[in-house]
Amino acid sequence: MNRKTFLRTLAMGTLGLQHLEALANAIPVDSKEMPVVFAGHGSPMNGIEDNPFSRTWAGLAKSMPVPEAVVVVSAHWLTRGTWVTAMEKPRTIHDFSGFPPQLSAVQYPAPGSPRLARDIVKGASTLPIQLDHEWGLDHGTWSVIRWMYPKANIPVLQVSLDLKNTEQQHYELGQALATLRKRRVLIIGSGNMVHNLRMVAWDRLQDPEFGFDWAHDMNTLFKDKISKQDHKALINYRALSKAAMLAIPTHDHYWPLLATLGATHSGDTIRFFNDKAVGGSLTMTGVVFGG
Ligand code: ZN
Repeated sequence: MNRKTFLRTLAMGTLGLQHLEALANAIPVDSKEMPVVFAGHGSPMNGIEDNPFSRTWAGLAKSMPVPEAVVVVSAHWLTRGTWVTAMEKPRTIHDFSGFPPQLSAVQYPAPGSPRLARDIVKGASTLPIQLDHEWGLDHGTWSVIRWMYPKANIPVLQVSLDLKNTEQQHYELGQALATLRKRRVLIIGSGNMVHNLRMVAWDRLQDPEFGFDWAHDMNTLFKDKISKQDHKALINYRALSKAAMLAIPTHDHYWPLLATLGATHSGDTIRFFNDKAVGGSLTMTGVVFGG
Protein backbone atom coordinates (compact mmCIF):
# COMPACT_ATOMS: atom_id res chain seq x y z
CA MET A 1 0.00 0.00 0.00
CA ASN A 2 1.50 3.32 -1.00
CA ARG A 3 1.09 6.57 0.93
CA LYS A 4 -1.72 7.85 -1.32
CA THR A 5 -3.75 4.68 -1.03
CA PHE A 6 -3.12 4.63 2.70
CA LEU A 7 -4.41 8.17 3.16
CA ARG A 8 -7.43 7.53 0.95
CA THR A 9 -8.25 4.35 2.86
CA LEU A 10 -7.85 6.23 6.12
CA ALA A 11 -10.17 9.00 4.91
CA MET A 12 -12.75 6.42 3.94
CA GLY A 13 -12.64 5.04 7.45
CA THR A 14 -12.16 1.49 6.30
CA LEU A 15 -8.85 0.85 8.02
CA GLY A 16 -9.27 -0.95 11.33
CA LEU A 17 -7.30 0.06 14.42
CA GLN A 18 -5.44 -3.23 14.40
CA HIS A 19 -4.39 -2.70 10.79
CA LEU A 20 -3.29 0.85 11.58
CA GLU A 21 -1.14 -0.32 14.48
CA ALA A 22 0.45 -3.03 12.36
CA LEU A 23 1.24 -0.47 9.70
CA ALA A 24 2.68 1.99 12.22
CA ASN A 25 4.93 -0.71 13.64
CA ALA A 26 6.16 -1.53 10.17
CA ILE A 27 7.34 2.05 9.59
CA PRO A 28 10.67 2.78 11.26
CA VAL A 29 9.86 6.03 13.06
CA ASP A 30 13.49 7.07 13.33
CA SER A 31 14.48 6.14 9.81
CA LYS A 32 15.31 9.75 8.91
CA GLU A 33 17.03 10.64 12.13
CA MET A 34 20.61 11.81 11.92
CA PRO A 35 23.22 9.99 13.98
CA VAL A 36 24.90 11.72 16.92
CA VAL A 37 28.68 11.80 17.17
CA PHE A 38 31.20 12.23 19.94
CA ALA A 39 34.60 13.13 18.52
CA GLY A 40 37.86 13.03 20.46
CA HIS A 41 39.62 15.99 18.80
CA GLY A 42 43.05 15.86 20.52
CA SER A 43 45.78 18.19 19.33
CA PRO A 44 44.84 21.19 17.18
CA MET A 45 47.37 19.78 14.67
CA ASN A 46 44.78 17.17 13.72
CA GLY A 47 43.10 20.09 11.97
CA ILE A 48 45.81 20.11 9.29
CA GLU A 49 47.51 16.72 9.54
CA ASP A 50 46.44 14.00 7.17
CA ASN A 51 46.63 11.16 9.70
CA PRO A 52 44.56 8.10 10.72
CA PHE A 53 42.33 10.27 12.98
CA SER A 54 41.54 12.90 10.39
CA ARG A 55 41.07 10.25 7.71
CA THR A 56 38.54 8.48 9.92
CA TRP A 57 36.60 11.74 10.43
CA ALA A 58 36.48 12.21 6.66
CA GLY A 59 35.22 8.65 6.20
CA LEU A 60 32.66 9.09 8.94
CA ALA A 61 30.93 11.91 7.11
CA LYS A 62 30.75 9.77 3.98
CA SER A 63 29.07 6.99 5.96
CA MET A 64 26.09 9.09 6.99
CA PRO A 65 23.47 11.24 5.25
CA VAL A 66 24.49 14.77 4.35
CA PRO A 67 23.12 16.95 7.15
CA GLU A 68 21.15 20.16 6.76
CA ALA A 69 23.32 21.68 9.48
CA VAL A 70 25.85 20.69 12.12
CA VAL A 71 25.60 21.69 15.78
CA VAL A 72 28.77 21.21 17.80
CA VAL A 73 29.14 21.29 21.58
CA SER A 74 32.83 22.13 21.87
CA ALA A 75 35.09 21.67 24.89
CA HIS A 76 36.69 24.99 24.01
CA TRP A 77 33.71 27.28 24.54
CA LEU A 78 33.15 27.67 28.28
CA THR A 79 30.76 30.41 29.32
CA ARG A 80 28.43 31.76 31.96
CA GLY A 81 25.03 30.64 30.76
CA THR A 82 24.52 28.51 27.64
CA TRP A 83 24.88 30.15 24.25
CA VAL A 84 24.40 29.20 20.61
CA THR A 85 26.18 30.98 17.76
CA ALA A 86 23.61 32.94 15.79
CA MET A 87 25.62 34.82 13.18
CA GLU A 88 25.32 34.43 9.40
CA LYS A 89 29.09 33.94 9.01
CA PRO A 90 30.86 32.55 12.08
CA ARG A 91 34.57 33.46 12.17
CA THR A 92 37.29 30.82 12.45
CA ILE A 93 38.84 31.11 15.91
CA HIS A 94 42.48 30.11 16.45
CA ASP A 95 42.30 29.49 20.18
CA PHE A 96 45.79 28.10 20.77
CA SER A 97 49.40 29.22 20.75
CA GLY A 98 52.77 27.63 20.04
CA PHE A 99 51.67 25.89 16.85
CA PRO A 100 52.97 26.39 13.28
CA PRO A 101 51.64 29.36 11.29
CA GLN A 102 49.88 27.00 8.87
CA LEU A 103 47.47 26.12 11.66
CA SER A 104 46.70 29.75 12.44
CA ALA A 105 46.14 30.34 8.74
CA VAL A 106 43.27 27.85 8.53
CA GLN A 107 39.94 29.34 7.64
CA TYR A 108 36.73 27.34 7.72
CA PRO A 109 34.16 29.66 6.15
CA ALA A 110 31.03 27.57 6.74
CA PRO A 111 27.86 29.63 7.03
CA GLY A 112 25.91 29.87 10.27
CA SER A 113 22.14 29.65 10.58
CA PRO A 114 20.49 32.38 12.65
CA ARG A 115 17.15 30.70 12.03
CA LEU A 116 18.26 27.34 13.43
CA ALA A 117 19.87 29.16 16.39
CA ARG A 118 16.51 30.80 17.17
CA ASP A 119 14.77 27.41 16.89
CA ILE A 120 17.28 25.90 19.32
CA VAL A 121 16.59 28.67 21.81
CA LYS A 122 12.82 28.17 21.44
CA GLY A 123 13.09 24.38 21.68
CA ALA A 124 15.18 24.34 24.84
CA SER A 125 12.42 25.51 27.13
CA THR A 126 13.74 23.84 30.29
CA LEU A 127 17.34 24.94 29.79
CA PRO A 128 17.73 28.60 28.83
CA ILE A 129 19.97 29.08 25.79
CA GLN A 130 20.88 32.54 24.53
CA LEU A 131 21.83 33.82 21.08
CA ASP A 132 25.50 34.65 20.64
CA HIS A 133 26.89 37.06 18.05
CA GLU A 134 30.54 37.13 19.20
CA TRP A 135 32.04 33.65 19.19
CA GLY A 136 32.42 31.59 16.02
CA LEU A 137 34.02 28.22 15.33
CA ASP A 138 36.88 27.27 17.64
CA HIS A 139 39.36 24.49 16.94
CA GLY A 140 37.26 21.98 18.88
CA THR A 141 34.88 22.32 15.96
CA TRP A 142 36.85 23.11 12.82
CA SER A 143 39.77 20.71 13.45
CA VAL A 144 37.23 17.88 13.04
CA ILE A 145 34.60 19.39 10.75
CA ARG A 146 36.95 20.55 8.02
CA TRP A 147 37.78 16.90 7.33
CA MET A 148 34.16 15.84 7.42
CA TYR A 149 32.82 18.64 5.25
CA PRO A 150 35.82 20.14 3.44
CA LYS A 151 33.68 22.30 1.16
CA ALA A 152 32.47 24.29 4.19
CA ASN A 153 29.06 24.53 2.53
CA ILE A 154 26.95 23.16 5.40
CA PRO A 155 25.85 25.57 8.16
CA VAL A 156 27.73 25.00 11.42
CA LEU A 157 26.62 26.26 14.83
CA GLN A 158 28.33 25.93 18.18
CA VAL A 159 26.69 25.51 21.57
CA SER A 160 28.64 26.49 24.69
CA LEU A 161 29.22 24.71 27.97
CA ASP A 162 27.95 26.59 31.01
CA LEU A 163 30.67 26.55 33.67
CA LYS A 164 28.02 26.57 36.41
CA ASN A 165 26.14 23.56 35.09
CA THR A 166 26.37 20.14 36.68
CA GLU A 167 27.12 16.95 34.76
CA GLN A 168 23.40 16.19 34.82
CA GLN A 169 22.64 19.57 33.26
CA HIS A 170 25.12 18.99 30.46
CA TYR A 171 23.36 15.72 29.77
CA GLU A 172 20.06 17.63 29.71
CA LEU A 173 21.56 20.06 27.21
CA GLY A 174 21.93 17.12 24.85
CA GLN A 175 18.35 16.06 25.55
CA ALA A 176 17.20 19.55 24.61
CA LEU A 177 19.04 19.29 21.29
CA ALA A 178 17.90 15.74 20.49
CA THR A 179 14.83 16.75 18.44
CA LEU A 180 17.16 18.35 15.88
CA ARG A 181 18.09 14.86 14.72
CA LYS A 182 14.72 14.58 13.02
CA ARG A 183 15.45 17.82 11.18
CA ARG A 184 18.55 16.25 9.64
CA VAL A 185 20.88 18.15 11.94
CA LEU A 186 24.09 16.40 12.93
CA ILE A 187 24.88 16.89 16.62
CA ILE A 188 28.54 16.51 17.55
CA GLY A 189 30.14 16.65 20.97
CA SER A 190 33.82 17.49 20.57
CA GLY A 191 36.17 16.83 23.48
CA ASN A 192 38.19 13.88 24.77
CA MET A 193 37.10 11.19 27.22
CA VAL A 194 40.54 10.75 28.78
CA HIS A 195 42.30 14.13 28.74
CA ASN A 196 45.19 14.67 31.13
CA LEU A 197 47.62 17.07 29.49
CA ARG A 198 49.87 17.27 32.56
CA MET A 199 50.68 13.58 32.28
CA VAL A 200 51.24 13.41 28.52
CA ALA A 201 54.46 11.55 27.70
CA TRP A 202 55.64 14.07 25.11
CA ASP A 203 58.52 11.80 24.05
CA ARG A 204 56.11 9.01 23.13
CA LEU A 205 53.57 10.95 21.09
CA GLN A 206 54.38 8.97 17.97
CA ASP A 207 53.91 5.59 19.64
CA PRO A 208 50.32 4.56 18.85
CA GLU A 209 50.50 1.57 21.17
CA PHE A 210 51.55 3.51 24.26
CA GLY A 211 49.00 4.33 26.93
CA PHE A 212 49.21 4.52 30.72
CA ASP A 213 47.42 1.62 32.40
CA TRP A 214 44.94 3.93 34.15
CA ALA A 215 44.13 5.66 30.84
CA HIS A 216 43.59 2.33 29.14
CA ASP A 217 41.38 1.14 32.04
CA MET A 218 39.28 4.32 31.96
CA ASN A 219 38.91 4.17 28.20
CA THR A 220 37.67 0.58 28.53
CA LEU A 221 35.33 1.54 31.35
CA PHE A 222 33.90 4.50 29.42
CA LYS A 223 33.29 2.31 26.38
CA ASP A 224 31.65 -0.36 28.50
CA LYS A 225 29.23 2.13 30.11
CA ILE A 226 28.50 3.76 26.76
CA SER A 227 27.80 0.35 25.18
CA LYS A 228 25.44 -0.54 28.03
CA GLN A 229 23.81 2.90 27.81
CA ASP A 230 24.50 3.35 31.50
CA HIS A 231 24.34 7.11 31.28
CA LYS A 232 23.79 7.51 34.99
CA ALA A 233 27.21 6.00 35.68
CA LEU A 234 28.81 8.30 33.13
CA ILE A 235 27.10 11.36 34.62
CA ASN A 236 28.34 10.32 38.07
CA TYR A 237 31.78 9.47 36.69
CA ARG A 238 33.62 10.21 39.95
CA ALA A 239 32.17 7.01 41.41
CA LEU A 240 33.34 4.92 38.45
CA SER A 241 36.93 4.44 39.54
CA LYS A 242 39.75 6.23 41.35
CA ALA A 243 41.36 6.65 37.95
CA ALA A 244 38.44 8.82 36.83
CA MET A 245 40.07 11.83 38.46
CA LEU A 246 43.24 11.19 36.46
CA ALA A 247 41.24 10.84 33.24
CA ILE A 248 39.14 13.94 33.91
CA PRO A 249 41.25 16.43 35.87
CA THR A 250 39.06 19.22 34.46
CA HIS A 251 35.52 18.93 33.13
CA ASP A 252 35.78 20.75 29.85
CA HIS A 253 36.68 17.87 27.53
CA TYR A 254 34.35 15.38 29.22
CA TRP A 255 31.19 17.49 29.27
CA PRO A 256 30.69 17.26 25.47
CA LEU A 257 30.39 13.48 25.89
CA LEU A 258 27.52 13.97 28.34
CA ALA A 259 25.77 16.36 25.94
CA THR A 260 26.24 13.80 23.17
CA LEU A 261 24.75 11.00 25.30
CA GLY A 262 21.77 13.20 26.14
CA ALA A 263 20.91 13.41 22.44
CA THR A 264 20.83 9.61 22.01
CA HIS A 265 18.08 7.10 22.68
CA SER A 266 17.88 3.42 23.51
CA GLY A 267 17.35 2.42 19.85
CA ASP A 268 20.63 3.89 18.65
CA THR A 269 23.34 1.58 17.41
CA ILE A 270 26.76 2.32 18.91
CA ARG A 271 30.05 2.28 17.04
CA PHE A 272 33.47 3.37 18.31
CA PHE A 273 36.22 4.86 16.16
CA ASN A 274 39.72 6.34 16.60
CA ASP A 275 40.06 4.17 19.68
CA LYS A 276 43.68 5.10 20.39
CA ALA A 277 45.67 6.88 23.09
CA VAL A 278 48.10 9.70 22.33
CA GLY A 279 51.04 10.36 24.63
CA GLY A 280 49.63 7.84 27.08
CA SER A 281 47.12 10.10 28.82
CA LEU A 282 44.79 11.36 26.09
CA THR A 283 42.35 9.19 24.18
CA MET A 284 40.99 9.99 20.77
CA THR A 285 38.10 7.56 21.14
CA GLY A 286 34.97 8.66 19.30
CA VAL A 287 31.48 7.21 19.09
CA VAL A 288 28.70 7.23 16.49
CA PHE A 289 25.21 6.71 17.83
CA GLY A 290 22.56 5.65 15.34
CA GLY A 291 22.72 5.91 11.57
ZN1 ZN B 1 40.71 20.34 23.11
